[in-house]
Amino acid sequence: MNGELSSEDYFARAQRVLPGGVNSPVRAFGAVGGSPLVIRRARGAEIETVEGRFLLDFVASWGPLILGHAHPEVVRAIAEASQRGTTYGAPCPVEIALAEKVVFLYPGLQKVRFVSSGTEATMSAIRVARGFTGRDLIVKFSGCYHGHADHLLVSAGSGLATFAQPSSAGVPAAFVEQTLVLPLDDRNGIDQLFREKGDRIAAVIIEPVPANNGLLLQHVAYLEHLREITRRHGALLIFDEVISGFRLGPGGAAQRVGVLPDLATFGKVIGGGLPVGAFGGSEEIMSCLAPDGPVYQAGTLSGNPVAMAAGLTTLQILERENGWEALEQLGVMLEERLQPILASARDAVSLVRCGSIFWLCLQGGSAPRCAEAIDASAEDRFRGIFSGLLSRDISIAPSAYEVGFLSLAHEEQHLDRFAKALGEVLQS
Ligand SMILES: *Cc1c(COP(=O)(O)O)cnc(C)c1O
Repeated sequence: MNGELSSEDYFARAQRVLPGGVNSPVRAFGAVGGSPLVIRRARGAEIETVEGRFLLDFVASWGPLILGHAHPEVVRAIAEASQRGTTYGAPCPVEIALAEKVVFLYPGLQKVRFVSSGTEATMSAIRVARGFTGRDLIVKFSGCYHGHADHLLVSAGSGLATFAQPSSAGVPAAFVEQTLVLPLDDRNGIDQLFREKGDRIAAVIIEPVPANNGLLLQHVAYLEHLREITRRHGALLIFDEVISGFRLGPGGAAQRVGVLPDLATFGKVIGGGLPVGAFGGSEEIMSCLAPDGPVYQAGTLSGNPVAMAAGLTTLQILERENGWEALEQLGVMLEERLQPILASARDAVSLVRCGSIFWLCLQGGSAPRCAEAIDASAEDRFRGIFSGLLSRDISIAPSAYEVGFLSLAHEEQHLDRFAKALGEVLQS
């Protein structure tokens, strides 16, 4: 114990100086109750709380840690880079090397700009789309999350209205008038919208594998339809690959589904656990961006050499070790382990999976493809599952609507442990 404060003690301290005790809301355990565990260390597939409790981790810091925690090579790359200085505010070789890698791996990408978070990436990609097309309207889908930029913090209006409402206080209604919200998996909705407003729409933004409101797998034909209709109307298609990019494969979801966007945004995995985001597209579109073009975008720490080193090393390891294939195998293994357990559970539960992203879907019938099809009563059941797993030292995200992540640090024995614990929890 080394005389450390407990998680609860720390959290009480945190609440005095941090709003809600956290720096990102979902960490506060609001949806599951109780007080969050405070972490002092993490390595491989495990995190260690300040009490010295080891938890098998499927949160992976919400997606970035595709190699697991504190991968020795990534840690070394960070240490070595920081020895050479932590920021220059000037071009450096490693940012060029990571840009080359990203452009090489992601289909159709010619130029990329680095930022410091996924939020900045989507915010800036939308600015580029508006600058490039000279149009203002943006279409997004309910159930997709694109970070917390004002124009994207919106929810669908009531009824058939597609005009958005702010989903956060502090966002002027006038801002979100430029954002239209549609349900996923709805061709008629998008067709009608483009019929009415097609010449004013700058871009359609979507998570091609929506993973922020459960895992809402889309038909490839629907994504192809979005590709076709945006092209026909001179609007851009933006794939928000902040979760899926460099996780579902070297070419992200775009490569997996065979649909190429005009702009793609990245975050999470691309920074190898440090704060990095990026957005990119064709030379033609990206040349809108300052200093080449009129769309302003900048960042004091953008292309930060330490963060770039972490991202580059992560991608190099994934390539070298055939990481994406290994993760797919792990995903299949998880499915095999969980399937019999889920099938014999008392209440409906299924596993929705895409590569190394998985979601426990607590409802019967076929897996939902849009947020509107998710059964909200799952939240109560989820609380029991979450606390049951946690009491068995397994950490999943504290919300029924968050996905889980596999990393290369997960081994067969970890999946066995997860399956056994889940089996016990679902029977009890
Ligand atoms: C996490 C996420 C973001 C926001 O990224 P931050 O780094 O948290 O700002 C944007 N889009 C998607 C799809 C995400 O999952």
